[in-house]
Amino acid sequence: MSIGGNIDSVQNRINAACMRVGRDPSEVTLLCVSKTKPLQMLQEAYKAGAREFGENKVQELTAKMPEMPEDVRWHMIGHLQTNKIKYIIGKVALIHSVDTLHLAEEIEKQAAKADCRQAVLVEINVAGEGSKFGTSDMGQNAELVRSISELPHLDLQGLMTIAPYVDDPEENRMYFRKLREFLYSDAMRGYFPAQPILSMGMTGDYEVAVEEGATHVRVGTGIFGERNYN
Ligand SMILES: *Cc1c(COP(=O)(O)O)cnc(C)c1O
Repeated sequence: MSIGGNIDSVQNRINAACMRVGRDPSEVTLLCVSKTKPLQMLQEAYKAGAREFGENKVQELTAKMPEMPEDVRWHMIGHLQTNKIKYIIGKVALIHSVDTLHLAEEIEKQAAKADCRQAVLVEINVAGEGSKFGTSDMGQNAELVRSISELPHLDLQGLMTIAPYVDDPEENRMYFRKLREFLYSDAMRGYFPAQPILSMGMTGDYEVAVEEGATHVRVGTGIFGERNYN
């Protein structure tokens, strides 16, 4: 199928998931995760109406950015090294992957220097997988959120998680639910905007994530096909 056709079919599935739980589909933003994919495929997605693109490497992101129309909103979804912050600060709509206070403080410094306020999400390793960044200790995560919320050049918008890779997406439902419950918990009251962002769900499990309250789903393979890392 074409990229435009894939986007339509993903969007239809998002809409159906919303209907199942009584949500308005306009609450859910579909991010096209274009990492490793050539510009021409991003342009095809753009022509089909896509405006939100996610990349996980600074170098690739900054190479693609000037080649795409100005109204594209770029999302940094991958692990971010502190020495690369300066290349994306104020240029990306949202950094999804703030997983330590140290990283947040470095973003704060660079944002202050660039005189901007950078929108960010705190990445939480809900399932506690050792291979992933962030922690599953919710007490520690609450501390992290509180500390980050005090940084004046950061605009803390919500939370993000990468769920485990599973065959049955139902296995991840509890993690998505846990993240939403944490976001709306008493301990987190007042730290997020009235309509916070919950970035969760990928090709294998975005429908379950939407049922559990995702506001942003990050879909790569389901739109652009399998990635080839060779
Ligand atoms: C690659 C990636 C995705 C998209 O994964 P697919 O399974 O191809 O949809 C989503 N989120 C993050 C953080 C990623 O790195």
